[in-house]
Amino acid sequence: MRVHGADCLLLSVGSDLPYLTGYTAMPLERLTMLVVTEHDATLVVPELEAPRVAPGPFEIHPWRETEHPVEIVTRLAGRPTIAAIGDQTWSLFLVQLLSRMPETTFLPASTVMSELRIHKSEQEVANLRAAGAAVDRVLSRIPREVRFSSRTERAVSREVIDMTLEEGHQTAQFWIVASGPNAASPHHEPGDRVIEGGDVVIVDFGGKLNGYCSDVSRTFSVGEPSAKAVEVHAVVAESQAAGRAAATVGTPCEEVDQACRRVIEAAGYGQNFIHRTGHGIGMDGHEEPYLVEGNSRLLEPGMAFSIEPGIYLPGELGVRIEDICVAGESGLDVLNRADRSLVVVE
Ligand code: ZN
Ligand code: ZN
Ligand code: ZN
Repeated sequence: MRVHGADCLLLSVGSDLPYLTGYTAMPLERLTMLVVTEHDATLVVPELEAPRVAPGPFEIHPWRETEHPVEIVTRLAGRPTIAAIGDQTWSLFLVQLLSRMPETTFLPASTVMSELRIHKSEQEVANLRAAGAAVDRVLSRIPREVRFSSRTERAVSREVIDMTLEEGHQTAQFWIVASGPNAASPHHEPGDRVIEGGDVVIVDFGGKLNGYCSDVSRTFSVGEPSAKAVEVHAVVAESQAAGRAAATVGTPCEEVDQACRRVIEAAGYGQNFIHRTGHGIGMDGHEEPYLVEGNSRLLEPGMAFSIEPGIYLPGELGVRIEDICVAGESGLDVLNRADRSLVVVE
């Protein structure tokens, strides 16, 4: 906060609050807000939620149904010159704070918090590793247990969700099953398309285990793959390996993106790699650092991120391979180990 001149930090919904306190605010019209000033930290919380708050190095200020929580927050905040407020705070509360604190300049709290959250502790890496190992187990079960052909994407995605929960996740958060031409849309929503022999299918899914996210992609072939699918998959696999090789401590984030992109461009598919190479991951599925052109930030030990190049041929097919990795002094710690080849399924 001092580095950024913030005299006050205000955290409501989103991951910054549980990162500091272990408590997750309910996304409700009843305000929950942690107020941190130079000397005090106070969690303003609806009285009916207060029993769920585990004690920590902060005061708990329950408010009753007849009180006005924004007034309480304003009082606790004092008259800050600069207040950092949680990025996902509802505008319902932000607009009230803006009008009650006309002299205060507001910053997004990520300005303060991302510098903390971008460096994962050993415990956080252990949580990410457990989440990664769980989705790897799902991937290894897929060829044995999931039938693709003659079934809808939605039916397959339901099985992926079930297995993700069976393998220890508390929640499944997304479940992309993109088959045939649908795989050319990176964030395709699984639907009624019936998967056929010869389809290439991207399966990209993840959730939360002990508060930390998983996110992994593999591409499967339903029956024997076409020569085109084999070729495109080989290019993506080489690109993804180049990204892993490039992601050493001290390397700019954008250079990892370039390493992946070079391989795909050399194969003539540069126009078909339509997204950045990766995103940070932790308590949120997408957070800093982003592996994208223009991000010159250097990789540091404890940074966790995805490496997920893809090639998307509209109307035809798509291929993506994604692993979560953690940068470290002794080399890249790749948390996903599941078979990266074009595994044939039925
Ligand atoms: Zn994505
Ligand atoms: Zn993904
Ligand atoms: Zn991802």
